[in-house]
Amino acid sequence: MDDKSIRLREQAKNEIRNGMKIDTSLYETDFKVLIEELSIYQIELEHQNQELYKSQEEIQQSKDRYLDLFDNAPIGYLIVDKNGWIKGINHTACLLLESSKDELTNNKITKIIHPDFQDIYYLFFRTLINQKRNQTCDIKLQKSSNAFFHARIQGIRQSHVTSNEPEFRLAIIDVTIQKEMEFKLLKAKEKAQENDKLKTAFLANMSHEIRTPMNGILGFADLLKEPDLSNELQQEYIKIIEKSGARMLNIINDIVDISKIEAGLMKLEIAESNINELVEFIYTFFKPEVEAKGMVISFKNALPAKDAFIKTDREKVYAILTNLVKNAIKYTNEGSIEFGYEIVETRHALSLLQFYVKDTGIGIPKDRQEAIFERFIQADISDKMARQGAGLGLSITKAYIEMLGGTIWVKSEVEKGSTFYFTLPYNAVPAILFEDLQLTPSEKNDHVRKLKILIAEDDEVSEMLISINVSEYSKEVIKTATGNEAVEICRQNPDIDLVLMDIQLPEMNGYEATRQIRRFNKDVIIIAQTAFGLSGDREKAMAAGCNDFITKPINKIELQAFLRKYFKNQ
Ligand code: ADP
Repeated sequence: MDDKSIRLREQAKNEIRNGMKIDTSLYETDFKVLIEELSIYQIELEHQNQELYKSQEEIQQSKDRYLDLFDNAPIGYLIVDKNGWIKGINHTACLLLESSKDELTNNKITKIIHPDFQDIYYLFFRTLINQKRNQTCDIKLQKSSNAFFHARIQGIRQSHVTSNEPEFRLAIIDVTIQKEMEFKLLKAKEKAQENDKLKTAFLANMSHEIRTPMNGILGFADLLKEPDLSNELQQEYIKIIEKSGARMLNIINDIVDISKIEAGLMKLEIAESNINELVEFIYTFFKPEVEAKGMVISFKNALPAKDAFIKTDREKVYAILTNLVKNAIKYTNEGSIEFGYEIVETRHALSLLQFYVKDTGIGIPKDRQEAIFERFIQADISDKMARQGAGLGLSITKAYIEMLGGTIWVKSEVEKGSTFYFTLPYNAVPAILFEDLQLTPSEKNDHVRKLKILIAEDDEVSEMLISINVSEYSKEVIKTATGNEAVEICRQNPDIDLVLMDIQLPEMNGYEATRQIRRFNKDVIIIAQTAFGLSGDREKAMAAGCNDFITKPINKIELQAFLRKYFKNQ
């Protein structure tokens, strides 16, 4: 083909491409060739069209895939423009916000942000715009139900596909559970720190509370040694020693009780109890102390004596009332103390005994009326209201009341007085006769015969104390310091009436000694005595074969009550 033909062919091609009318006269000679070219070109064009269509399909598929991924991503996404308008939202975000795409699109994002977090969000968004870096913030978002949830938002800056304007993709994760856990952990940490502080204060107070009576005991015992001491002074010093000892014992009792409660080892001993008798006993017991302070004490029993029997743990109710009345006396300087109980009906038609202990004392400020029931809290040494005491009484009292199925609360006004209330279920039982161990000192023991007594005790001071306390009931006292010997003495003296058996004896403990004695003597009365009524001691003593159980330091009245119980009228 010559140059001219080539040129003409190119010209014809361009004319066809541009849709121009072809001047066929120009192409006569090459017409055939031209038609050929044309058909090749048409095939090329069709092929290109097919390619284009395929690419478009691929683009569409990839767009669909992206939208599917965006919509169903495990994270919520919002697309926001630079003015904060929501321009896109995925399905997960709709679920989190409990709204539809239509409801949220073209709304301001601030509409779904909790008012308290608007400033934090504003700062986050400004930084995202200005610094062009990814940003994270924790805020609260609002659902359509008006409920809020904790969200962690991560913002990424990007450009709009067509307009190239900046837009922001905000990833939203629900971190409510995490936040709640963080909150709980923080609270637990604060509580642990608070407890730590209070325990330190408690220990400091306890140390003071133990040292003070100890000081009294040791100091006045030393003074008693003075050779020229008048009889009057001697008696006075002895009284101080006694008082200090009693105070120390109270503290130790409280510590043991609270430890048992904390360890869940405090047990209930439910039996029929006469509530009226209990109230009257406490009244008689505290009357002299109240009157010595120049005050008046009175009591009120709502039930007639025959209906005043309930099933409860008598010792615990006694401890509860005693503690409340003791506090009333301690925190009142003038006026009166009144206590007793009433019957109240609950909404569920249950009858309750509602006890009260009312005083005209110093009162308790409103902000401390809950704290006083908490263990350790009242032990805070900065507490100016606390007078002598370990600060455990009310927490023990509250624990006892709750164990018995009741509740305790206080109504109080500073400088006017306080009334402590507590309830107990009123489960009346028919009146029966009770064996009352409580003897008043006036009750003489004339009708208890003289006894042959074995004292098994390795501690010299305790042994002396028991010997003195039983001296007026004994015709013969045998003493031993070991368990083995106690068994042997019993074997050789079948006429022994009573064994006072210490539990912590060397060689063979009191439980084992009792078990061995029981093999050959079922009748002798064995009373176990331990330094502290720790959990299970009573049960162990009874299981070993003891008749009864007494805790040290042995109280004369209590010991006499035991003797009367087992030997009266013999
Ligand atoms: P304690 O009396 O040994 O300190 P409690 O647990 O019995 O311990 O009482 C805790 C605190 O409650 C006391 O320190 C006192 O501040 C206050 N409180 C208890 N009873 C009364 C009362 N009747 N009047 C005023 N304050 C009281």
